[in-house]
Amino acid sequence: MRLRIFRTAGIVLAFCAVIMFSAVDEAVAVSKDAKPKVTKEKQTVLDWLAQPQLVEKFGKISDAIWSYAELGMQEFNSSKLLADTLEQAGFTVERGAAGMPTCFVATYGSGKPVIGILGEFDALPMLSQKGRVPRQDPIVAGAPGHGCGHNTMCTAAAAAAIAVKEAIDKFKLPGTVKVFGSPAEETVVSRPYMVRAGLFKDVDAVIDNHSSHGFGTGYGKNGNAIFSVIFRFKGKTAHSAGAPWTGRSALDAVEIMNVATNFLREHLFYTYRLHYIVIEGGEAPNVVPDKAGVWYYIRNTDEEVEDMYQRVLNCAKAGALASGTELSEVKFVSAVHQGNSNKGMAELINKNIELVGMPPWNDEEQAFAKALQKELGSKETGGLPSAVEKLREPSAVFVGGGSSDVGEVTRVAPTASVQFPGQVPGSIDHHWSSVASNYGTTAWKGLNAGAKAMAASVIDLFQKPEELKKIREEFDKYEKEHPYKSFLPEDAKPPLDLNKELMDKYRGLLQKIDIIH
Ligand SMILES: [Zn+2]
Repeated sequence: MRLRIFRTAGIVLAFCAVIMFSAVDEAVAVSKDAKPKVTKEKQTVLDWLAQPQLVEKFGKISDAIWSYAELGMQEFNSSKLLADTLEQAGFTVERGAAGMPTCFVATYGSGKPVIGILGEFDALPMLSQKGRVPRQDPIVAGAPGHGCGHNTMCTAAAAAAIAVKEAIDKFKLPGTVKVFGSPAEETVVSRPYMVRAGLFKDVDAVIDNHSSHGFGTGYGKNGNAIFSVIFRFKGKTAHSAGAPWTGRSALDAVEIMNVATNFLREHLFYTYRLHYIVIEGGEAPNVVPDKAGVWYYIRNTDEEVEDMYQRVLNCAKAGALASGTELSEVKFVSAVHQGNSNKGMAELINKNIELVGMPPWNDEEQAFAKALQKELGSKETGGLPSAVEKLREPSAVFVGGGSSDVGEVTRVAPTASVQFPGQVPGSIDHHWSSVASNYGTTAWKGLNAGAKAMAASVIDLFQKPEELKKIREEFDKYEKEHPYKSFLPEDAKPPLDLNKELMDKYRGLLQKIDIIH
C-alpha cells in the first residue's frame, strides 16, 4: 500500500538526463551547480537500463504480473517469473524464504557492502480492470487487479539488480546486491517474518521502491505500526426458535466485542486507526452460531500500539464473558513497526533521482492520462508530470495513517524508498483507475526510471564507504535510542492459506482472457 503521494514539485530537469552522460570511460567532472559526477560504473548501469529492448523486456514482465493479478501469499506465477529472471541472469536464488513459498532472495556478487533491494508483487481483491482503458471496465468482474502498481515494483528491483550485476562483472566491483522478493505487502505479512528469519542480518543498507504519480523520495517516520489479529469465539449451537436458551452464540461475542472497541475509540491516543471485518458468523439465522471470528487491524505509533492491542484484547474477553462463550483463538497474522526512512539514504537516492530525471512521455501516453483524469473528474488535468519531486521532509506532526511492512525493514537496516512514476496523477490507489494506469508503456518507462535510480544508488553505496558509514551511524543512533524487538509473538506463523480460496476461484478465469488491449 502506498502511504504518500508525491506531488509535482519544482526541480526542473531535462528529459533523459542520462543521454547527457554518454561518456562511459571516465568520470565526468562538473561544476558545483551542474550535474553530479557520474562514475564509469554508474554510467554502465544507466546505459544498460536505457537499452530499448530491456525497457520492453522488463515492461513485459510487469505486464505479465499485472495480468496474473495474484493476491498476497498466492503469487506463485509472479514470484516464479521474477525469481527465474534473476536466476537466468546469474543470481543465486533462495526460493521459499522465511517459510513462505512465494518469498525469495536473489543474490549476486561477493563481500561487503551488502545492499538489498525490496520488491513486491501482490494484487488487490475486486479491482479487475482492463489496462489503459480510461473508464471502469473489468476483465473478469470481481477478480483481483493491480491497484497499487506492485506489478511494476519487484520488476524494477530485478532490473536494477541485474544492471548492478553488469557493473560488478565489468569492473570486478566488490560488493553484493540482493533482491528481496516480498509477498503479501497489501496484508502487511511478509517483512516481519523475513526479519525474524534473519534474511537482513548481513545487509548494510536497503532500497525500497513504490510506483507513484511522481518521482521522489523522503525520510523520517512514515505510517503507523499495525497488529493484524484474528479473534475467534466458540459457543454452543441450538435451535434459534425452539430452544435458544440452551445455546451460546459466538456471533454475540463478536458483536459485543465490536461494540466495546467502538466505545474504546474515544479513549485512544489520536494517532490510532482501528478497523475490522467479520470473517465467520454462522450460516443460517435459525441455528445459533457456535463459531464466529473477527479480523482486526490495530494501528498506532510504535509507542502506543502494544497498549492499544491489550485494550482491544480486553474487549474480546468482555465479548466472551458477556455471551457465555469462549475466546478460543487469538491469532496474529502479522505485526509491524512504523517506518522510519533513513535521511542519509534518502539524500543519496534523491541525487540519483535528479540525475535520472522524469522519463519523456509520448502523445498516446499523455492522451490516456488526460482521458483518465477527465473520467475521474480529477483536479489533475495536465496528464503525466514533467519534473521530479523535491526531497520530502518528515511532517512536523504525525497524525497516524496507513501502514507498510517495509516499516519492519527500516528498523533492522538503513532504508529509504524510491517512489517512481508511471501511475497517472489523479488515479486513485486501490481503485480500478490505478489498475488501468499500471499497465503498458507508461508503467514500463516509470519502472525503468525507478530501476535506474536504484541501480545508481547501489553503485554509490558500493563506491562511497564514507557515505555508507554516515548512513550506518544515523541508523545506529536511532537503534540505540529505540532498540528493535519484533512485535510478533514467538508462535506466530505466516498465513500461507491467505487468499487461497479467492485465487482458486479467479486464477483460471483470468488465464482464459486475452489481456492485451
Ligand atoms: Zn502498495
